[in-house]
Amino acid sequence: MLLHWLKIAGLKLVWVRLFSDCTGRHQGNCCLQRLLMSVMVKRWYRSRRNQFIIFTISIICIVYYICLNDNLQREPDLDITRRNSVIEYIEHRIEEALKEDKGSGCEIPQLDPFAKEVVQFDNVYSPITCKGKDWVKCYLSECRVVDEILRTTTDIECTYQDIIHVSDNKYYLGEHRTVKGNKPYILDASDHVKVTCRGSQQKSLFSSTWVGFALGFRKSVPRLQPPPGREDTLNVLIFGFDSTSKNGFIRKMPKSYKHLKDHVKATILNGYNIVGDGTPAALFPILTGKTELELPDVRKTAKNNGTLDVMPFIFYKLTNDGYRTAYFEDMPWIGTFQYRFNGFLRQPADHYLRSFYLEENKSRKKFGKSRSKYCIGDTPQFQLMMNITDQFLRLDGKRFAFTFIADITHDDSMISVADDAMVELLQTLEQRNVFEDTLLIFMGDHGPRFAKVRDTLQGKLEERLPLMSIRLPEKLKRMRPNVQAQLEANAEILTTPHDIHATILDVLDWSQYMNPFKIKGADFPRAMTLLEPIPKNRSCSEAGIEPHWCACVNWKNVTDTEMIHKTVDAFITYLNELTSSQRSKCWPRTLTEVQWVMSQRPNSKMLSFVSNKDSDGYLGKFGAHTKIAKENYQLKVAVGPGRGIYEASMTYLKKEDRFVINTRDISRTNAYGNEPSCISATHPHLNPYCYCSDYVPQTVRV
Ligand SMILES: [Zn+2]
Repeated sequence: MLLHWLKIAGLKLVWVRLFSDCTGRHQGNCCLQRLLMSVMVKRWYRSRRNQFIIFTISIICIVYYICLNDNLQREPDLDITRRNSVIEYIEHRIEEALKEDKGSGCEIPQLDPFAKEVVQFDNVYSPITCKGKDWVKCYLSECRVVDEILRTTTDIECTYQDIIHVSDNKYYLGEHRTVKGNKPYILDASDHVKVTCRGSQQKSLFSSTWVGFALGFRKSVPRLQPPPGREDTLNVLIFGFDSTSKNGFIRKMPKSYKHLKDHVKATILNGYNIVGDGTPAALFPILTGKTELELPDVRKTAKNNGTLDVMPFIFYKLTNDGYRTAYFEDMPWIGTFQYRFNGFLRQPADHYLRSFYLEENKSRKKFGKSRSKYCIGDTPQFQLMMNITDQFLRLDGKRFAFTFIADITHDDSMISVADDAMVELLQTLEQRNVFEDTLLIFMGDHGPRFAKVRDTLQGKLEERLPLMSIRLPEKLKRMRPNVQAQLEANAEILTTPHDIHATILDVLDWSQYMNPFKIKGADFPRAMTLLEPIPKNRSCSEAGIEPHWCACVNWKNVTDTEMIHKTVDAFITYLNELTSSQRSKCWPRTLTEVQWVMSQRPNSKMLSFVSNKDSDGYLGKFGAHTKIAKENYQLKVAVGPGRGIYEASMTYLKKEDRFVINTRDISRTNAYGNEPSCISATHPHLNPYCYCSDYVPQTVRV
């Protein structure tokens, strides 16, 4: 091969020589030389055509590969197929990051929920209306034909078949049991039934039929006796929406947000940050106190047939403690614990909808544009999830419910269609005094992860800042009077799903089960209950958050002189605009000294994060150029006449190349004394900015 390319190089040399001879005084031999050269090239090309084509394609491929990967920072030598190597790598990365950020706290980015950058991706959705009329409904353990059908239809005969759960991937339909007229069917073998009804419509000669599903709560659930002294421990309701950021919830669920804050009086955690990618990264810590990588490997790809039953899910502890448990999740084909994992062999909670959804989903289109995919019979699926949660909380004894709705949020951000229904559920729970003895955790697992949103800085930050709100039970507040204040104090501090697990355990009086794990080198455990003070200087690494998932921002000195000038000029121009109406009285201010200009930056790993490197989402791929639409600046300057010292925060809109400044974000940090005396009676709001032209500074006698 080498010899071959040397030959080509030789040919090139001859060609160059021949061609160079064609210039100047050797022009006479030129035609002959050119002819010779052309013949040689043609002959060479014909004999080597295939090799030449392969070589050219190879070069193009290499260049393309280099260009493609140019932006991607390479991870160190890491075998992502070995789970232990990934665990060690992540541990090491957090420990290294801890050396940098330990004790530095977290400045939570202040994001406008209605910023254009993200609002542009929001669509308006009309309400979900479901066609038809269900003949049968269940309430608790009794299922029967609804009054409206009884009024219009005679000779009704319904056949019920229980949908009996075997494992996450296996279920069967029970025997046909026929019930006539208004007689009830009592749920016993399962919580859900497939029903076929026939009857004669009174105004029609034709018999009419209905096939559908109904669900409630079977009576025959064995419950253990709570251990002595734990008979009255508190109930828990975790109600979650997939892909719902805190800001997204504020934008799209205005009524629910207001209700949650003002009526339910839930505490919204503004510093709640995810600890990994996707739903499992949020739910494993909340429900087990550990990350996926700290738990047994039960991924489908591990091919070890392990199931999640061996994991320390809170449901198991609760069952042994005498609780009734419920785990309600829709969209079974992408189930949190079934999509990448082998799922559960035995149902993890007393009441579990997986088999119901698997059977029910067979009978409808789950993809496509038809809105009926959001309906189960005559009811929107999200409404059904709310109804069943409400019913569960009406059962007696101690209760723990985990409800997670994905169908309206996972593929489209159409959570807004559930706003009214959500308020209604919260109102119902309030009216029934549920919050007296029930902890409410109202949450999202992470923000939207659509590529377009993730391309923007705010979208990236919102992905990392899901909705998390907590409403403590009244009973707990009476027993421990300082917990509400503690929770509120922690609302502005960096918190994670690990803390939510610790908080649930704390509320259940189970502090002994809290995971004491500490990141190597950290001063505090990774999981901290929100009912006790969480240190303000807690950093992402200390809380177990890898840099690229960390939404905290930090301030850095601006060194670019052009940007310093731009920022300072914009500020002084604004300062002078404020007093321009009083120009005859107030001197224009001019710059005396720039003390500092700082800009706020999210961490660089987060900015450059592109997506997952592996299908499990353990590792990140970096190299993204996240579009930053606006930047926050702070400055401190001294201006004349006199010496007015100001600190200000300003926002720079990159596209428009301009700053947005507001008087609320300006502070005059030294006393202005009598400087503004000429306008202080008429325009007191201008006191910090005006230096009166007739002002004579008092001379200080020494
Ligand atoms: Zn999710």
